[in-house]
Amino acid sequence: MKEKLFGKTLTELQGVAAELGLPKFTARQIADWLYKKEISSVDEMTNLSKKARELINEKYEFGLTAPSKIQGSTDGTKKYLFPTFQQKFIETAMIPERERNTVCVSSQVGCKMGCLFCMTGKQGFQGQLTAGEIVNQIKSIDEANEVSNIVYMGMGEPFDNLDEVLKSIEILTAGWGFAMSPRRITVSTIGIIPAMLKFLEESEAHLAVSLHTPFNNERRNLMPVEVAYPIEEVIAEIKNWDFGRQRRVSFEYIMFGGLNDSPRHVKELTRLLSGLKCRINLIRFHPVPGTPLKSPGEETIQRFKDELNQKGIFTTIRASRGQDIYAACGLLSTKELLSANN
Ligand code: SF4
Repeated sequence: MKEKLFGKTLTELQGVAAELGLPKFTARQIADWLYKKEISSVDEMTNLSKKARELINEKYEFGLTAPSKIQGSTDGTKKYLFPTFQQKFIETAMIPERERNTVCVSSQVGCKMGCLFCMTGKQGFQGQLTAGEIVNQIKSIDEANEVSNIVYMGMGEPFDNLDEVLKSIEILTAGWGFAMSPRRITVSTIGIIPAMLKFLEESEAHLAVSLHTPFNNERRNLMPVEVAYPIEEVIAEIKNWDFGRQRRVSFEYIMFGGLNDSPRHVKELTRLLSGLKCRINLIRFHPVPGTPLKSPGEETIQRFKDELNQKGIFTTIRASRGQDIYAACGLLSTKELLSANN
């Protein structure tokens, strides 16, 4: 099998040029074709000599992967299914809003973190995605030219695949790459502290942390990661960083009926986040098969939001999108995996 060019950084492309005996500037030309233009084969790189294209074609391929399935929701959300290795699939969601088009990308195939409420977690860990496979989820969708924001909130825990995630952010933000502002990129984590610190050090993208409850015992039941990295330690680390300017930190809070929606939770959240400039995004829980968890009523979510705002924590309720197409991450690929294996 030929190696893919798509997903290589400029430095790696310079290595390819050197290996093939091509001038160094060829790397920049290839990067332009890969990340700024609308082609899908080496033969279309018309400013490269025929000989150069032949040499490249011998060992490398362009490397884009088309989606194997696309589902559209009545609300405009689209879900893309991309094939990876061994008949496995990853999901990408495209969420159009008034002023932005947000793509939600996957960073792993399945996930090993075992969060109770998550369908991807139930698949277990199947493998890591490469930077190329992450960026392909942006380049190979119908709306590739209209993407304004990227969130790493699809399948997998991005900080469990940090090197490839950082490389994908480099490709998305570098001048030789997609040249996007890092302020348009948000990476979501359940709070793996060492990787989070490396991410904060090496990237300028926004950080989102899945919080879901401020109490250790409740969080341990929902998210096994709490045992290794308790939420107060995660937040203590975050407080050492400057989020007062352009870079943002936000907290995702899935609302579970009768579990994390009480005034006691508001009080503890307020204590935990005091002194930190941040926002909380409340997310309605949409039941996934095999969990006892349920969603609270609309008025409970609204009250929770109002109480947090009154305490001075900027809190919003995330609109539910694409429920008719299994937008809850992991459902569609699980379905596909099952039918591929039957
Ligand atoms: Fe993995 Fe995220 Fe699902 Fe937890 S919520 S199991 S980290 S994909």
